[in-house]
Parts: sequence; C-alpha cells; structure tokens
Amino acid sequence: MPTIREQMISLLSEGEYDAYELSQCMRIQEREVYPHLQHISKTLAARGRRLIIAPAACISCGFTFKNRARFKKPGRCPICRSERIRPPRYSIQG
Ligand SMILES: [Zn+2]
Repeated sequence: MPTIREQMISLLSEGEYDAYELSQCMRIQEREVYPHLQHISKTLAARGRRLIIAPAACISCGFTFKNRARFKKPGRCPICRSERIRPPRYSIQG
C-alpha cells in the first residue's frame, strides 16, 4: 500500500491539480494537503525532481500571486480586492 505522499507524487507526475482536487483524490481534508505538498517538495528535491507550482491568479483582473508564500490559496486580490481567486496548481517535473 503506497503512502499518501507516494500516491500524491504519482498523481502529480501525470497531471496538474489544485489542493481541492488533490484532497478529493486522496480522500483527505484540503488543509491536510498543504503539509504533504511541503514534504513532497523536499522528497522530490532529494530525488532530483521538482514540484512545480503554477501561481494563484485573480479571476477578475488577472493578477498572479507570483511572490506569495507558496502553498495556500490567497484570500483576496491586492489589486482589485476580488475574492475570486484561482488557486495554485501543482505538478511534478523530471
Ligand atoms: Zn484582481
């Protein structure tokens, strides 16, 4: 039985997912996804691979949260104040 992190690594090797989608696939809470991602990021580095994060973006004005602390979805756009934010999406390179 593969661990949850190994399952996440296989999923992310095959496609791009956001935290909610990962939580659905793994049958865990969305908030539990983030510490796993953090850990996976380190595991991958040790294997010469990389967790790719497509940054969150504001759906209303297109602002991307490039400089943001990486994992969680931001609450609100600093430019237009919209709360319609497309969450970060994750995949694995290498
Ligand atoms: Zn905006």
